[in-house]
Amino acid sequence: MSARERLRQLPALDQLLLAVQREMEVNLPDALVTEVLRQELARLREKMLAGEDPGEEALTLPALTAGLRRLAAARLRGVINATGVLIHTNLGRTPLSQRAVEKLAEVGRGYCNLELDLTTGQRGGRGLLAETALAQLCGAPAATVVNNCAAALVLILRALITPERREVVVSRGELVEIGGGFRIPEILATSGAVLKEVGTTNRTRLADYRSAASPGVAMLLKVHRSNFHMTGFVEETQPAELAALGRELGVPVVGDLGSGAVRDPAQWHRLPHEPAPQEWLQAGMDLVCVSGDKLFGGPQAGIIAGGQEWVSRLKRDPFFRALRADKLVLAAVQETALESLEVGSELPLHAAMAVPLQTLQSRAEALVRELEAPAAAHGVQLAVRQAEASVGGGTMPAARLPSVVVELRARRDGEMQALAERLRWGETPIIGYLEDSALRLDLRTVPADLDPILRANLRAAWISGIEGKNEPHAGS
Ligand SMILES: *Cc1c(COP(=O)(O)O)cnc(C)c1O
Repeated sequence: MSARERLRQLPALDQLLLAVQREMEVNLPDALVTEVLRQELARLREKMLAGEDPGEEALTLPALTAGLRRLAAARLRGVINATGVLIHTNLGRTPLSQRAVEKLAEVGRGYCNLELDLTTGQRGGRGLLAETALAQLCGAPAATVVNNCAAALVLILRALITPERREVVVSRGELVEIGGGFRIPEILATSGAVLKEVGTTNRTRLADYRSAASPGVAMLLKVHRSNFHMTGFVEETQPAELAALGRELGVPVVGDLGSGAVRDPAQWHRLPHEPAPQEWLQAGMDLVCVSGDKLFGGPQAGIIAGGQEWVSRLKRDPFFRALRADKLVLAAVQETALESLEVGSELPLHAAMAVPLQTLQSRAEALVRELEAPAAAHGVQLAVRQAEASVGGGTMPAARLPSVVVELRARRDGEMQALAERLRWGETPIIGYLEDSALRLDLRTVPADLDPILRANLRAAWISGIEGKNEPHAGS
């Protein structure tokens, strides 16, 4: 068939729209659906007019609506994280506590006292309680909140460098990339700072920092190597030494901690110790910044803690206005921080880390008992296996938590890949991982109350797989 003839086969937009409405559950506004389909048809028409033959396949409904389905599937929704990666950046990092979610919904639904002091009826500061609780948690005189830890670092750099003093001294071993294009040297450059590298990749001593001393130095910066591990002939300067040097030189010492461990993860399954903001501040550092949605266990936010003068200076900087957290984030940070201060309370992230191995084992065995028969009927074998979960989110890369997986194995190759796909298309998508051509569902990252959904979705995925109905569920 010639390209011209194919062109005539291209469906009209209203026909295609009707077909979509009849056969798919897209659940997006008609105007958006129409526009996406219009663009797809226009793209094909253009190709054909240029003499290209897109082939018969390209004119089928699944092909014409592939983009539409991807868009519908992109609607943010809850998923079950069965990857065993606790702080999973692709899955939104940290689950919030019930209290944080309720507060967020409450202030989102209506008006709130964001900048109103209810004791006087006058204008009040944003986030007074959140900041006070964070300061207490970090053992600091003051604290504040911005968009994320990357923003916190940019703000600190911009606010503390001056035209005369723009040099920022950093160890060569700490010029790291955090991920998502966040590289310390580039962050320094965009902030108008001049990077002054000292030491070597594996060893930086206090004398190296001292050798960089000059009237142009604005600050000493220590970046926590949160996402990689260095062993062997390694030496780094301790926070206390650096803080002392800063005082001697009369420049502030700043710590970018990232991981946000206000509670020591060493309490769970003998995980390694992770430096806490309170530790670096006690060592004498002037300011530290940490991420809100890593080990801190809250929403995406950048938490800055340190001396009152320094924090005030950051908040006075015009750039602070561009980075400040909104009422939703402040509400979630506030509740997370308050909960962290309460004895005996446990955030969902920490609860997941704390679950004893035996509990996971029992849950996995119960799941397998229930699903064994229907699985076998579909040629799938189930097993309970010991596995290792990780902290993720670019934190504690070497740390492993003991965990348990439900392992699904089929005789035919590629079947588990197909099952993994169908599980992603479910009403509540389940995200596991493939290993040795088996599909593994790690229970450390699945709260126990989701086990019934896990069970139901597995059954549903088998049944839909058998009947060959493997179109994605594109609804909300
Ligand atoms: C993760 C991390 C950041 C970035 O934090 P975000 O909150 O994701 O912006 C910065 N510095 C360090 C050391 C980190 O580990």
